[in-house]
Amino acid sequence: MDNKITIVIPCFNEEAVISNTLDNLLFLLQKLISDNIISKDSQICIINDGSTDKTQEIIDKYTKETNQIAYIKFTNNFGQQAAFMAGIKSVNSSAIITLDADLQDDYTIIPDMIKKYKEGYDIVYGVRNKRTSDKFFKRITSEMFYNFMNLIGVKLINNHADFRLLSSNAIKLIRQFNEKTLFLRGLVTIIGLKSCNLYYDRLPRKNGKSKYSFKKMISFSIDGMTAFSSFPLRFIDFIGILMLLSSILLILYGMFDFSFKILIVFILLFSNSLILISLGIIGEYINKIYIETKNRPLYFIEKTTNL
Ligand code: UDP
Ligand code: MG
Repeated sequence: MDNKITIVIPCFNEEAVISNTLDNLLFLLQKLISDNIISKDSQICIINDGSTDKTQEIIDKYTKETNQIAYIKFTNNFGQQAAFMAGIKSVNSSAIITLDADLQDDYTIIPDMIKKYKEGYDIVYGVRNKRTSDKFFKRITSEMFYNFMNLIGVKLINNHADFRLLSSNAIKLIRQFNEKTLFLRGLVTIIGLKSCNLYYDRLPRKNGKSKYSFKKMISFSIDGMTAFSSFPLRFIDFIGILMLLSSILLILYGMFDFSFKILIVFILLFSNSLILISLGIIGEYINKIYIETKNRPLYFIEKTTNL
């Protein structure tokens, strides 16, 4: 099993791209096998995250033709992060590479990733050079997110998403995380094994639509922030103290002049809105506790093939 590599790909309604992706990756895998770089039992493992289109039919066609392709079929849509985790927990390989189904992340650097792995790196991060292919809005919001996360002290690799190689050592450690709010790119930096970055240009999605709606993106970012930092909670303390100080100043001022009615209304509205926002932030953390204590399974598997 020494050089068995598995490429793990989450798929949610990817009928428009999956054939092309599998053809390209199979070709690459064959080449790496014939060059004796990876072992013959290396695979591509699709995690079908509750697709309702023809994705499964297409996967079935491939798995009948070759056992180089395996799949894990979820009973429902549990999300991309849960799908990656299923791959990490269920696949036994000397290394796995996680990759999105639309090949926006340049899979041609996979041979270099494997080279780094053989040099002794346990984690090889795929890092995006430029994101001119992403829409302006996505680029800006994503940049703001990474900057904010850095600001509040969450260690993330800038411009790295979920394209990475993990050695069996890294897999063993990641399997120990039991949290339900999954933000893998944050967890991977915590384990602290030997790692390096490989750079590539992010390509546009060729077919099909992005499965990350604006709502899903916001929710994923809030999950990332609250799962890795209690800075927002502390920030509430800071604002509270600031408001207390300003109210004392205002009382002192009011002793001399009571004519600032509009100012008072403004301050009332302002402080009430801050209280509501603070409650919202606290609620976000309570929600996390709620989700973690329920301890529900992350996903349900309906069927696996060739695994
Ligand atoms: N994905 C998934 N479950 C979901 C949403 C997305 O498995 O609920 C997969 C999707 O099929 C793709 C990857 O996650 O392989 C990234 O999704 P997408 O390309 O739509 O995201 P974007 O690149 O726009 O951020
Ligand atoms: Mg994509």
